[in-house]
Amino acid sequence: MNAPPLEPGLNLDPGLYIVATPIGNLGDISRRAIETLSACALIACEDTRVTGKLLHHLGIKRPMRRYDDHAGDDARERLLGDIAQLPVALVSDAGTPLISDPGYRLVRDARARGLNVVSIPGPSALITALTLAGLPTDRFLFAGFLPSKEKARADTLAGLAAVPATLVFYETGPRLVDALHAVAQALPGREIAVARELTKLHEECRSGTPEALTAHYTAHPPRGEIVLLAGPPPPAAAPEADVVDAALRLALATMSTSQAAASVSRALGLDRKALYARAMELK
Ligand code: SAM
Repeated sequence: MNAPPLEPGLNLDPGLYIVATPIGNLGDISRRAIETLSACALIACEDTRVTGKLLHHLGIKRPMRRYDDHAGDDARERLLGDIAQLPVALVSDAGTPLISDPGYRLVRDARARGLNVVSIPGPSALITALTLAGLPTDRFLFAGFLPSKEKARADTLAGLAAVPATLVFYETGPRLVDALHAVAQALPGREIAVARELTKLHEECRSGTPEALTAHYTAHPPRGEIVLLAGPPPPAAAPEADVVDAALRLALATMSTSQAAASVSRALGLDRKALYARAMELK
């Protein structure tokens, strides 16, 4: 049986509207998200039961259609056809669509066809966890879910060990202790944070070494949804003074004093002004 034709949306241009929804606390939905969901002609979602509950809570009645990026080209083509003519919202079960959730292929194809794509920002577990963990946020790398197989997980962590940034992973309760073990081996000495059940009744954020957190969560098996964070690697030890002098002498042989200071500063990560002063002494 063919689905009935969609009715036009209210006061919204045709296009794809990517709508973030709460990650636990329903009070976190934005006014713009509610307005968009109320006005669109169709809501594409991961699971119509999950999104149906949210819509029921909000008092919104709009048609829903299940969509994920693996739904196949036909499903995506049909949705792109609708997006060309009508306002269509994309939501995931929770949080921001496309962030470890479906939607990337749909957005890519919609943009490639010149269709209108609009993002309505809102909650995401990764940003919420970063704001709570007390780890550096100036640079972070979100790596999604770690592989569940031991070897692949260890390889992934080894590949990330030298990245000078806070690392953020999505995890689940049953996998957390194994993940902490792997982190302890691949990232020794790092400060770790486990952010659990964010925005929900039993929200917690616990920091410590991977060993201490492993002990805690072995004794208290964690429930619910989890973000695991690892602080950046400690800065490399400063090079010995004679190494710095040798680098400066080498640079001074072919460069001006300021060029030599800048070059050694870039190479060794040291203060350029201090290097300039030392180069003047060496000359
Ligand atoms: N798109 C979502 C977002 O923007 O955060 C993420 C979807 S991903 C399939 C689900 C994972 O996100 C969970 O396994 C967990 O790692 C994390 N997550 C989602 N909600 C969470 C919450 N309330 N507290 C902690 N982690 C959460």
